[in-house]
Amino acid sequence: MTQTELEKYKGVLEAKKAELSKGLRNREDIAIEKTPDALDEVQLAGERELAIRNLDRESNLLRNVRGALARMADGSYGTCLHCDEEIKPKRLDAVPWTKYCIRCQEAADRHEFESEIGEFIDELLAA
Ligand SMILES: [Zn+2]
Repeated sequence: MTQTELEKYKGVLEAKKAELSKGLRNREDIAIEKTPDALDEVQLAGERELAIRNLDRESNLLRNVRGALARMADGSYGTCLHCDEEIKPKRLDAVPWTKYCIRCQEAADRHEFESEIGEFIDELLAA
């Protein structure tokens, strides 16, 4: 990968990281609200659940973005963590924070191998 390409992906990743961090900080709306109206309560519970699911997805994404920036720093960015093959630029353009080439990603989605679990703990400690 050329320096120019690296810079391009870095810009995208930094912007995504800033966007996600900001979004995650403004999440006080998950606070539990009490209402005497049963219908409202059902609706609120649904909204809360949706908010929590979004939060979950966003923090997951943020973790991947941070991981990609860390790999950029240590020079392993753009290489599949599973098979060590180079990840295709087309895939990086679509998902710049990906850890895996398309083949390994599909295998991971089918749970054919364990993607790293320890990473989450490491990042929690580093945060
Ligand atoms: Zn791979």
